Amino acid sequence: MKTHNLGFPRIGAHRELKFALERYWRGELPRPALEETGRKLRADHWRRQRRAGLDLVPVGDFSFYDQVLDMSALLGVVPERFGWDGGEVDLDLCFRMARGRAPRGEPAAACEMTKWFDTNYHYLVPEVVEGQRFRLSSERLFQEVAEAQAQGIPAKPVLIGPVTWLWLAKAKGRPFDRLVLLDELLPVYGEILARLAGQGVEWVQMDEPALVLDLPPAWKQAFESAYHRLHTAPVKLLLTTYFGGLEDNLGLAMGLPTEGIHLDLARAPEQLEPALDRLPPYKVLSLGVVDGRNVWRADLEGVLERLEPVARRIGLERLWLAPSCSLLHVPVDLNLEETLDEELRGWLAFATQKLEEVTTLGRALREGRETVSAALAASRRARESRRASRRIHRPEVARRLAAVDDTLLSRHSPYEIRRPLQRARLGLPLFPTTTIGSFPQTDRIRKARRDFRQGVMAEADYHAFLQNEIARVVAWQEACGLDMLVHGEPERNDMVEYFGERLEGFAFTGNGWVQSYGSRCVKPPILYGDVVRPAPMTVEWITHAQSLTDRSVKGMLTGPVTLLNWSFVRDDQPRADTCAQLALALRDEVLDLEAAGIRAIQIDEAALREGLPLRRDRWGEYLGWAVRAFRLAASGVRDETQIHTHMCYSEFNDILPAIAEMDADVITIETSRSQMELLDAFEDFEYPNEIGPGVYDIHSPNVPTVEEMAALMRLAARRIPPERLWVNPDCGLKTRRWEEVEPALRNMVKAAERLRREFGETQGVG
Ligand code: GLN
Ligand code: ZN
Repeated sequence: MKTHNLGFPRIGAHRELKFALERYWRGELPRPALEETGRKLRADHWRRQRRAGLDLVPVGDFSFYDQVLDMSALLGVVPERFGWDGGEVDLDLCFRMARGRAPRGEPAAACEMTKWFDTNYHYLVPEVVEGQRFRLSSERLFQEVAEAQAQGIPAKPVLIGPVTWLWLAKAKGRPFDRLVLLDELLPVYGEILARLAGQGVEWVQMDEPALVLDLPPAWKQAFESAYHRLHTAPVKLLLTTYFGGLEDNLGLAMGLPTEGIHLDLARAPEQLEPALDRLPPYKVLSLGVVDGRNVWRADLEGVLERLEPVARRIGLERLWLAPSCSLLHVPVDLNLEETLDEELRGWLAFATQKLEEVTTLGRALREGRETVSAALAASRRARESRRASRRIHRPEVARRLAAVDDTLLSRHSPYEIRRPLQRARLGLPLFPTTTIGSFPQTDRIRKARRDFRQGVMAEADYHAFLQNEIARVVAWQEACGLDMLVHGEPERNDMVEYFGERLEGFAFTGNGWVQSYGSRCVKPPILYGDVVRPAPMTVEWITHAQSLTDRSVKGMLTGPVTLLNWSFVRDDQPRADTCAQLALALRDEVLDLEAAGIRAIQIDEAALREGLPLRRDRWGEYLGWAVRAFRLAASGVRDETQIHTHMCYSEFNDILPAIAEMDADVITIETSRSQMELLDAFEDFEYPNEIGPGVYDIHSPNVPTVEEMAALMRLAARRIPPERLWVNPDCGLKTRRWEEVEPALRNMVKAAERLRREFGETQGVG
């Protein structure tokens, strides 16, 4: 039996890689010093994994930027605009592909970045063209294997499998079916495997997470042909799947001629039995039994109950144990946490602890449970403590949740009745202008927050500072001529953290960083218990803003689904229930805002789409409870109170009916980059309420002209009645500078004025 790991976080326990990368990019660190940081981190990570007792340690999971980009480099896939000479694809070329520029080489447009399956990690999308050639073009993997071997590490190289790599690639230039490239691609994989075999490697981990997706028949066929060809390679292949169950691809995956297969049993425990039934006698079965996507300690005894019969059935020689997926998605080490209380800490396991869990399970199977009785007892105690803790289980929350019925899920009247009431109260013109919430987070704001957190600035002073910032933003918006104002969010560092810190049931780590892309990391809060709102969270800021102006100020909240999707969430109850608890807490905030005289409230659901399950047949269930949670948060208000929501992406054609079901009076969305492409969806589906298709791309420093924005709105007005259109940016302005925001918003107001003249001022009023 073997224990192993699929990937270790590479950013470093103290984010050493982040800081070294950023210094290198700024020209403050020479290239050899950056390489040295990489070597040190790899050595440290390999040592940690060996110390935990793993039999096989992944190599090639380290990356200076992204593992998909590294695979493209290895295959010699570099878009033409980077002027590659066909030699070694070196680090600076990789950085240019990732970020558009590097200390050496000409700048060019960076490659597209997108989410890695259903995680919050972003990879660089490989670009392929018709007639694409592939050639082994990077020595990095082989060097790292040699480096590990020199340190006595039992190395198991990790590759992204050919079918998944191609699946993630995008065809550029003349449209063509990228699958035709597989034939060209496989010889290079063959060469890579032969090189590894030459280094004495026995096993290679071939990551093929595409196997957990809905695959078209041609792609299933591609798996057959690819692995029949790679079968002749002089190494053993571990076909590695994660982030879900194989389902309809189970027979396919089990039948592929690889010496081993890895299954994610954290996400899809139900696939164990059918997999055992179809496991060919020659194949090793690697079971991902420790959840690589969440931060909870494993139930070791529960896992053993399942594993012991498997060991008896297939024999220990064919059974391997590992985390469910790469540990890239969890923080490095719980032992670095200094602020978490003992009780909470006792419930958690980060990457380092998860590997200890894997080896404990391995030992129990090999040598008997009694040899690890202390570890099993500790795991049992953690579980019992979670089951009983009064911090987790709050009877008043359970009672309230049980009492939720349909009356709480609908506004009093339908939109057609609400609309004139809101119009009369808000006194808005045709094409009303607004923004999405945040205004630039200036150095002053950041410094004040830091000073306050470090105790250098007194609470009263910080408070006064924020009230003053709000006053400035309100005055500026009035002068600019915006119709519906915001308070600017100066008090928020992050749209999830701000609310998490004010709700009971959330905890924050000091060092729980997880890589999001490149050198960027996020520190997701841990939602561990029933959610309670001890006091209003936003009312004083919004009412202060409202007291300074006659125009309406929008209250600004982060929605329940977004709070859920951007946190590590408890695994002891369905996500839907946790989401409903968040919704109830937000519902109270919404009602407090209304009672304080706020006439419009925006509930942001920036992360609604990214919670979509990988498999289509599960979308309905997710959207069902997600929409329900939004409605639970929003529906308590009177008809004349206007509910807004905001989503920052353009592809939601496929979920438009669900978004309509949310029944927000106004939705603002991202569209400017796609030239209103999104609005094509409105051809087939008539969105019933008001909509603000973003006309100002806030991801770019460019200032859009009046005519550009007016033109975008004219496109929108072809699909949506003008009296239901709003004019606004794509997203919040917090990452922009005032020098850009001021002219852009002035132009936006002028664009709205131009549109009102064109479409007739009277049309939409009253
Ligand atoms: N209200 C938030 C802001 O303006 C929304 C951010 C987001 O959608 N990501 O910053
Ligand atoms: Zn947004």
